[in-house]
Amino acid sequence: MRLEDKLYLDGYKTDETGGSHLIIKDPSVCRSCALKQCLYVCPCAVYEQNENTGQIEVNYEACVECGTCRIACDNIDWRYPRGGFGIAYKFG
Ligand code: SF4
Ligand code: SF4
Repeated sequence: MRLEDKLYLDGYKTDETGGSHLIIKDPSVCRSCALKQCLYVCPCAVYEQNENTGQIEVNYEACVECGTCRIACDNIDWRYPRGGFGIAYKFG
């Protein structure tokens, strides 16, 4: 089974009031970030670079809370979503 197919089995509850649980601390650091590893390490493609502005956009709704980006970049303020929100794994 492909990773994308497995991800479709999970449920997500988006915190639309509280907003993103993943915050880029300083966007100016991203502009001079040569590697932009956030674009490659996330299994869910949460981080995307806007083609027009060059800014890194965070699609936090798709995050599976694996913590990889937290290790990969210290310019990301990483938290779990508020209680009751985020991913719900169907198989534990
Ligand atoms: S979020 Fe981190 S890895 Fe991604 S571009 Fe910004 S500084 Fe680089
Ligand atoms: S915690 Fe995992 S799934 Fe969520 S944004 Fe970071 S790398 Fe992607």
